[in-house]
Amino acid sequence: MELTVLNPRDGSVASTTPVSTAADVEAAVRVARRAFPAWAATPAAARAAAMHAAASAVEQAATALAETMSAEMGKPVDEARDSIMAGVGTLRQYAELGPAHRGRTLLGDDRAIDLMAYEPRGVVAVITPWNDPVAVSCGLLGAALVTGNVVIYKPSERTPATGTRLFELLAPHFPDDVIALLSGGGEVGAALAGAPVDVVAHVGSTATGRAIAAACAQTGAKALLENGGSDPLIVDAGVDVGWAASQAALGAFANSGQICVSVERIYVHSEIADDFLAALTAEATEWAGRIGPLVDTRLRDAVHAQVEEAVSAGAKVLTGGDVPDGPGAWYPPTVLADCTDEMAVVAEETFGPVAPVVVVDSFDEAMTRASSSPYGLAASVLTSSMSHAQQARRGLPVGTVKINNVFGGAPAGAAQPRGASGQGFGYGPELLDEMTTTKVVHLEDPPTGW
Ligand code: NAD
Repeated sequence: MELTVLNPRDGSVASTTPVSTAADVEAAVRVARRAFPAWAATPAAARAAAMHAAASAVEQAATALAETMSAEMGKPVDEARDSIMAGVGTLRQYAELGPAHRGRTLLGDDRAIDLMAYEPRGVVAVITPWNDPVAVSCGLLGAALVTGNVVIYKPSERTPATGTRLFELLAPHFPDDVIALLSGGGEVGAALAGAPVDVVAHVGSTATGRAIAAACAQTGAKALLENGGSDPLIVDAGVDVGWAASQAALGAFANSGQICVSVERIYVHSEIADDFLAALTAEATEWAGRIGPLVDTRLRDAVHAQVEEAVSAGAKVLTGGDVPDGPGAWYPPTVLADCTDEMAVVAEETFGPVAPVVVVDSFDEAMTRASSSPYGLAASVLTSSMSHAQQARRGLPVGTVKINNVFGGAPAGAAQPRGASGQGFGYGPELLDEMTTTKVVHLEDPPTGW
């Protein structure tokens, strides 16, 4: 069997990739288990050197890899290249952080010391999405491998050639069988998640994350889940409306809205709502020429269904909102006014270039409505008030709060989703803790006089 991916720009065939069988999954786990002890015993500096070499290989091939990625999921090639280079940076970051990963020591009396020693967990299944396929994979692969785990990598069925090429660039820099590849869709992912592995690290939708958590409950594997969100943006009274609209547009339309931390719903103060909506509509028109298509017509149908449902429930389309004629999976930047929290376009993750706007009468009301979601990924607030910024920092029940920049965040920053958005650190130095387990060693002199 083969996976055939259509180029979302024009519907032509972008790639064909063979699908792994159940026997392949079983064999991959068996072989990985055999490869683990030697890799775990490899000096940390040697593992780091392999990671640096692998990062350089990805960097050298970045342009070709970007073309493959763009053909499969639609991101413009220069943006795809930027995101691949972010992945290269992450591999290098983990190459540096790996050997420096350390535990605490505790002194007992003068004959005793307690050591907290990190050990790799074993076989890590890495199951990834298509929306940022290289950068997301590099985080999990980098942290798992540099800490001495062996990895079975299952990239998304929507970007299988990108995942295969990434694997081919990385694998020669590690000993045989330290990294293995499986291709296929949810059924291959499910077989891997239910296999006797030690960690299942999944980045993807909430529904899949829940299925993986259930599978891990049966096998005892650790589930590390970075899942979907419905991130709110609060636009406070008193902000510069042009700037706020450009931030909202960036958050809602970048990567055609296909980012886990895209702005998914906007709560704007009534004092500036009319001007903000006009400015956001103008921004959307500018973004129309810049964004790529959605990944495929399946996602486009789902996005458009949410927009149509909102319109039938009273939302007003200020721009966009229609499926263009012609091939591919294009969808225009869309601004919806008069939205309510009950509409799926507000309550759920849309994963398309749609900015649904809800008008509120106070910052407190925005906080209450932004907080009433089962998702807990991230939230953004645009405000010139320090006390509102503090209120947002304290009160928003999410893993990441961004004040005055929808995509702010320092390099090496971590993120820990809450609620329906997942569990465990997905990024940063803390991911090294997730990929390892701690052994406490109590070390004491024998009694004197032996
Ligand atoms: P998805 O969960 O459908 O697919 C992701 C991966 O899981 C794929 O490799 C897929 O084959 C596999 N999979 C599907 N069903 C499975 C099952 N039952 N068992 C095991 N594996 C299975 O998600 P997607 O549509 O590819 O990605 C988009 C989603 O990813 C969005 O919800 C987005 O918010 C989320 N995402 C989250 C983050 C984050 O850091 N929180 C980052 C990027 C994307």
